Amino acid sequence: MNVPSDQRPSRNTGGRQPFELSFEFFPPKTDVMEERFWESVHKLAPLNPRFVSVTYGAGGSTRERTLRMVSQVKAETGVDAAAHLTCVGASKADVDQVVHAYKTAGITRIVALRGDAPEGPGKPFVPHPEGYRSAAELVAGIRRIGEFDISVAAYPEKHPQSPDWDVEIDNLKRKLDAGASRAITQMFFDNQHYFELLERSAKTGIRAPIVPGIQPIHSFRQISSFAAKCGASIPDWLAERFDGLDDDPETHALVASAVAAEQVLELVDAGITQFHFLTLNRSNLVLALARLLGVRPD
Ligand code: FAD
Repeated sequence: MNVPSDQRPSRNTGGRQPFELSFEFFPPKTDVMEERFWESVHKLAPLNPRFVSVTYGAGGSTRERTLRMVSQVKAETGVDAAAHLTCVGASKADVDQVVHAYKTAGITRIVALRGDAPEGPGKPFVPHPEGYRSAAELVAGIRRIGEFDISVAAYPEKHPQSPDWDVEIDNLKRKLDAGASRAITQMFFDNQHYFELLERSAKTGIRAPIVPGIQPIHSFRQISSFAAKCGASIPDWLAERFDGLDDDPETHALVASAVAAEQVLELVDAGITQFHFLTLNRSNLVLALARLLGVRPD
C-alpha cells in the first residue's frame, strides 16, 4: 500500500475522526449471552460505526436469531445493521426467502458468504443441488432481489481451498464484479499478508475497498483455535507474547491490547482508514482501539 505521506491520516487525529469503523457480532444463544451482546452493542453504538454486522451460523442454524438481532440493533440504536448470509445446505429459493425477509425488515446491508461444509471448514464444500454454488453466485442472486449494500470475504493468506493466488484473486474480483461494494478480510496477525493482498488485488484492477478484519485477542487459546480452523496463521512472535499467560488474565489483557494497538497503528501508518472489528460480543478492547484512532462516543 503506498498512500502518499501527505494524504495519510495521522495517528493523532485531533478528534477529526477520519476513520470508518464497523463491528461484527454473533447472534447470542442464551439469555446470559444475549445480555452481554446488548451491553456491548450499547457501548459500541455511540462510536457511530458505519454498520454493525451479525454473523450467520453454520448451515443457517441462526437464521431467525440473525434476523432478530439485526432488526433490533437497527431499531434500538439507529445504527445501520448488516446481516451475514451463507448458502450452505439451502436451495436458492430458501436463501432468496431469507433475503426477502431481510428486505421486509428494512435491512439494506448483507455480508454474502458461501459458508463451509457442516463437517467443518477443512472439509470440501458440497453445494445444495438447487443452491448457490459460491459467494459470487449468491451476490448476483441478492442483486436480483433488491438494492442491498453487499460485502464479501477476502483472505490475506488465501482461502485454504484456493489452489493458488490467481484463482483466489479472480474469485474475489468475480464477487465484487457481481455487485459487492467492498470486501472484508479474514482475521490476520501479520500485516504483511494484508499489504500483499492489497497489492495483488490492485494489480488485477480491483478498486473496491478491502477492509481489514481485526480480531482482538480476548483469549489467545480460543483465537488460536479459530485461526487454525479458518487458515489464519499465528506468527511465532505472537505465540511467544502470550506464552504462559493462560492463568494470568490481567497480563493477558494488557498484552492483547498492546498487540491489537500495534497492528492497527501500523495499518494507520500505511494509510488504512476503514476497520472491521470482530468483537466476539465484547466491547472493551474495541473501545480502547477506537480511542487510539480518535473515534469517541457522540
Ligand atoms: P467463496 O468466495 O465462494 O470462495 C470459497 C472458495 O471456493 C475459494 O477458495 C474460491 O477460490 C473457491 N471458488 C469459488 N468459486 C469457485 C469456482 N467457480 N470454481 C472454483 N473455485 C471456486 N461463515 C459463516 O458460516 N457465517 C458467517 O457469518 C461468516 N462470516 C464471515 C465474515 C467474513 C468477513 C469472513 C472473511 C468469513 C466469514 N465466514 C462466515 C466464513 C466463510 O463462510 C468461509 O471462509 C467459507 O469457506 C468461504 O466463504 P466465501 O464467501 O469466501 O466463499
